[in-house]
Amino acid sequence: MSSIGLIGLGVMGANLALNLSDKGYALSVYNRTFALTEQFMAVHAQGRAIVAADNLPEFVASLTAPRVILLMITAGRAVDAVIAQLLPLLNPGDIIIDGGNSHYPDSTRRWQELRAQGIRFVGMGVSGGEEGARHGPSLMPGGDVEAWPVIREMFQTVAAQVDGVACCQWLGEGGAGHYVKMVHNGIEYGDMQLIAEVCHLMRHALGMDYAAMADTFALWNQGRLESYLIEITSQLLRHKDADGSPLVEKILDRAGQKGTGLWTAQDALEHAVPLTLIAEAVHARMLSARKDERVAASQLLGKPTEPVPENQRQAYLEALHDALYAAKVVSYAQGFMLLQTAARQYAWDLPYGDIALLWRAGCIIRSRFLGDIKASFAREPVPQSLLQDPFFAAELQQAESGWRKAVVLAVMQGVPAPALSSALAFYDGYRCANGSANILQAQRDFFGAHGYQRVDRDPALHFHTRWGGDGVEEQLP
Ligand code: NDP
Repeated sequence: MSSIGLIGLGVMGANLALNLSDKGYALSVYNRTFALTEQFMAVHAQGRAIVAADNLPEFVASLTAPRVILLMITAGRAVDAVIAQLLPLLNPGDIIIDGGNSHYPDSTRRWQELRAQGIRFVGMGVSGGEEGARHGPSLMPGGDVEAWPVIREMFQTVAAQVDGVACCQWLGEGGAGHYVKMVHNGIEYGDMQLIAEVCHLMRHALGMDYAAMADTFALWNQGRLESYLIEITSQLLRHKDADGSPLVEKILDRAGQKGTGLWTAQDALEHAVPLTLIAEAVHARMLSARKDERVAASQLLGKPTEPVPENQRQAYLEALHDALYAAKVVSYAQGFMLLQTAARQYAWDLPYGDIALLWRAGCIIRSRFLGDIKASFAREPVPQSLLQDPFFAAELQQAESGWRKAVVLAVMQGVPAPALSSALAFYDGYRCANGSANILQAQRDFFGAHGYQRVDRDPALHFHTRWGGDGVEEQLP
């Protein structure tokens, strides 16, 4: 009998199966297309306690009670379809875990529907790609809390570990796990976009060659920017095509997306959270897709041609480092702002420090920096935002002049840097005690009589001025 059953032997499922097996868990596997199961067994399963099933009744019968079934299949309708096939075969108390990239409202719905039938549902975000799944992913489980004591040891054992702590912590009820995974993916979009913009500025504003760019990222990876994405960027910049030229130069500048960044940006808009940096990253991918239009526009519209003087280039390069770091702080501050807002709406008690911790390894956004975020959430009281944390506030003040310089470089050279610059705009808006919305309120009152509050009166009172008429202000009821 197996202690866990895994459905879906695609890239992630096969690697997670081997990871579970390595850690001593006897498992059963099932894949809709049996040929893939046969191939998996032939290539990988020799000498391992893995049972292959070619139908679901046999698969379910091979599991110890309560049954723990992990789905690693394409998100969406396939998950509902497989759950529907499993239901007649399961008993109350059995556990279904969806480890795919499901949208969190689906996980909330499945948790509710399955709870009504006595089945414990867990929506578990899995990050780290193929390599993470094989050797230690970051896992973000949420759903039916009664499932957690049953599955905890198993998933904390297969997850990535940092200083003896597993990158797998319980996040909350309903769709909490997939919500956190969604925000993780959004942050990943932001981190990737920031790095891409810095690369573009290095190349097209500072005229650096790819080897120098790779060396710079390798150097930065030894400091406070240390992270998986900085490390792989250094490696990919160094990679040569068959003809000896840099491969990245040959890769079409049209970015794909599977939709989790879009979900995060949409969700932020619905929750009224200014998640500008991730939204810019999604927009940048959308603009990248319009290749033909951009090529035509480049011929018509041209760009600034004044080069950056040679003797200023090193200073600009240092500014790019500070801009990348500071914009990253803003991105994470916005991401946690979204998590905090959603947690209030859905009554989740999200463990923010643990979230930072479980992203520290195993996943694409893993970085040294997440340790500092964990420390921020351990403060008493917890700062309202990472931007108000004493450590990050000091870091931002130190990076600020380089950040501004980098944005000026982008503007003057006509090199697009939407994430770096919108992060700075957000920062300036966030630290601005008296913003420009008084003008908006006056405009709204002028054309629509929407009313306004006054800074010198009780904020509960609303006023309207007859701007175009006799100019008299009246108090609204
Ligand atoms: P693959 O495309 O490699 O595999 C998809 C799996 O889903 C196959 O086993 C396929 O079975 C199964 N499947 C699809 N539709 C159905 C269906 N209707 N009924 C039963 N089984 C079905 O996907 P991945 O392994 O890459 O991804 C699996 C999940 O993990 C996805 O939700 C993905 O978003 C998520 N994920 C992926 C990551 C990655 O880096 N690849 C990272 C993190 C999460 P069959 O062989 O019969 O087609």
